[in-house]
Amino acid sequence: MLLAGVTACGSGDTGVSEANGRLPVVATTMQLQDFAREVGGKRVRVVGILGPESEPHEYEPTPSDADAVSRARVVAQNGAGLDEWLDDLLANAGSEARRIDASEGIELLPTEDEGFAGDPHVWHDPERAQTMVDNLAAGLSSADPPGRATYERNAAAYKRALDEMAARIRSSFEPIPADRRNLVTSHDAFGYFARAYDVRVVGSVLPTISTDSEPSGRQIGQLVAEIRARRVGTIFTEEAVDPELERQVAAEAGADVSTSLYADVLGRPGSGAETFIGAELANAKAMLSAWKEG
Ligand SMILES: [Zn+2]
Repeated sequence: MLLAGVTACGSGDTGVSEANGRLPVVATTMQLQDFAREVGGKRVRVVGILGPESEPHEYEPTPSDADAVSRARVVAQNGAGLDEWLDDLLANAGSEARRIDASEGIELLPTEDEGFAGDPHVWHDPERAQTMVDNLAAGLSSADPPGRATYERNAAAYKRALDEMAARIRSSFEPIPADRRNLVTSHDAFGYFARAYDVRVVGSVLPTISTDSEPSGRQIGQLVAEIRARRVGTIFTEEAVDPELERQVAAEAGADVSTSLYADVLGRPGSGAETFIGAELANAKAMLSAWKEG
């Protein structure tokens, strides 16, 4: 009763304060926002920076982001070069929040792309996602020691849910022969997913791990040849990325364009993909239906 009353009279979604008794937490990506809500439960109040339309690679923080981080006690980021704009945001806001780098200790897949120590899309591997969850639980426990047991219990329960999600995806892919499990996407965001679920990344229209790039004519030509050679029937667009180039490549290669995948963002409220698990299951479902059609 008390909690409901306080929440109703509270400062609303944008108000990050400790007045409601919850630890104010800001998280950059939507995946991290979901993880922070799962791990933090009722002890935290999570304010997200990125939404369903915001590509993390190219994001430009707003004044309300600066306001949120200046009030936060904990700021969680993906790390691995995905959300480096957070550095300036925290410095400009004079933030004294405890910072959690969710990728800390995670081995990155290599990339040749300049400016990256490795591929930052670590959450698409369920085991690495579990490490992110552990990093969050450790960071929240440091900021709020009395909550440690709660954070650890919540993290353990959510990690079990991630295991179940991974098992569901693996068994749903089982009937599909290996040479059909091909992925062509907007940008190179599914390397971890491919490794975890035995899928082949044939290529991406933007030939880098960032969305902040443009393919050359030669690169497009190579991709089209690859799509034809492997008889890839479907190219996937991505939520929050303009699909125009995918449409052109698909037309040139004689392939279809399929439902958008959740590469770097989650879905809108009510889409079923507003949680990380919902988004990964939606991705798997979209891939399955494309592979079945051939
Ligand atoms: Zn990305």
